[in-house]
Amino acid sequence: MKKVNIAIDGPSGAGKSTIARRLAERFRITYVDTGAMYRAVALLVFRKGLDGLDEAAVVALLPEADVSLTYGEQGQRVLLSGEDVSEQIRRHEISEMTSRISGYPAVRAHLLGLQQRTAAAVSCVLDGRDIGTVVLPHADLKIFLTASPEERARRRHLELTQKGQEISFEQVLEDLIARDERDSSRAASPLKKADDAVEVDTTGKNLDESVELICEIFVKRLGEGPFCGGAAPCS
Ligand code: C5P
Repeated sequence: MKKVNIAIDGPSGAGKSTIARRLAERFRITYVDTGAMYRAVALLVFRKGLDGLDEAAVVALLPEADVSLTYGEQGQRVLLSGEDVSEQIRRHEISEMTSRISGYPAVRAHLLGLQQRTAAAVSCVLDGRDIGTVVLPHADLKIFLTASPEERARRRHLELTQKGQEISFEQVLEDLIARDERDSSRAASPLKKADDAVEVDTTGKNLDESVELICEIFVKRLGEGPFCGGAAPCS
């Protein structure tokens, strides 16, 4: 049975995680959210009372940053030293901290092995910023997902307010533009479309339309499966 690795990259709020999750369900492969790994490290930095701007202080914490993933009925859960932090890492202040510390090369190196080992073990779809360029340069399919900043901020704002976080749309938009800028301009693994990625703009498309479009690209390139790593082990 064939093992496949799919890379989905793009800026915040482009719909990567929702689309990746739906692809994983449809083709019975595993969804790996790499942003959650960076967020778990950011949560540790936050809990230590650091502002994340001092690179040496963040790097000194890395030996304590024991990040792992588990998969169960609720999908992927992210563990920090064995504690399930999957909900806490979604807070707005953690998003901010994450984009600050994710530019540090040592932080990226700390998480790269976990991402590559996971991809080597199962058929999966990984979403992030540098999956197609750095983590899995030989991925079987690479998608670069975009949408206008306003549309992405609208989606993020809805997501946060539905979870009870009080924040204005303007603040979400401003922070999202700043994060995109930091993610795209950093020296270490910047957010960038891989040369061989298929670019999909989801502005004006609803979720079902975007998922349908990407499923079509998937089937054209990789077929319907079955792929190993769902019910069947990859060996
Ligand atoms: O995807 P998500 O919005 O959860 O990612 C949070 C932050 O983690 C991003 O803004 C980016 O700074 C960082 N990240 C990254 N590389 C990845 C995934 C996420 O730098 N592969």
